[in-house]
Amino acid sequence: MQDSFVHKGKRKILIEYLRNNLGIVDENVLQAMNVIPRHLFIESIFEDYAYEDRAFPILAQQTISHPSTVAEQSELLQVTTGDKILEIGTGCGYQTAVLVEMGAHVYTIERQKDLYDFASKKLRELNCRPKFQIFGDGFEGLPTFAPFDKVIVTCGAETLPVELLKQLKIGGIMVIPLGKTDEQILYRLTKISEREIETEEIGPCKFVPMLNKTNS
Ligand code: SAH
Repeated sequence: MQDSFVHKGKRKILIEYLRNNLGIVDENVLQAMNVIPRHLFIESIFEDYAYEDRAFPILAQQTISHPSTVAEQSELLQVTTGDKILEIGTGCGYQTAVLVEMGAHVYTIERQKDLYDFASKKLRELNCRPKFQIFGDGFEGLPTFAPFDKVIVTCGAETLPVELLKQLKIGGIMVIPLGKTDEQILYRLTKISEREIETEEIGPCKFVPMLNKTNS
């Protein structure tokens, strides 16, 4: 599959939809999503729908997030060039690619070996380089590389994973879905001090569950 004029045209329409209908204003987010070819991250049978606001099945019974979700989470992170970002749930690597394109230094973790392999290959093919990509359990974060400016979690945990909060720097932002399946809420947390977190409730959402340990 290639990135044709038709794909580029559809991508532009999606970007205008995100801007005009969903109120995404961060030009860096819109620009990055206009560059990254989403259709290359999903199975070819879904190619024609890749630039609709839809989620699709990927390997290991997981899903690529809706473009609107990727745009919203990326905007909530307030990414600036050179931000050191920890991503939990690499999945197919699309969100990772968007953050890299935005100029972030991305450290990403995936617990499904098939998806870790898929995303590694895909990102390499597209010459899109996260700083560090690991097959592991996101609940543990990456203490060796902490602290992070930002943390993005693309799967839903029932309660806030404390390790991830520890690895966020003071002043840092975490965007995370929390709560039981079917009752998840997307939050933006700002770490004011070691003891104080500012919590913003963004709204209801639906992510695949954050699961313990790895699955090879
Ligand atoms: N942003 C990804 C979303 C994939 S879905 C994309 O656009 O493709 C969320 C991913 O989180 C799944 O791939 C799932 O395997 C992964 N995941 C769930 N629990 C995890 C954990 N504890 N550590 C790392 N990844 C996890």
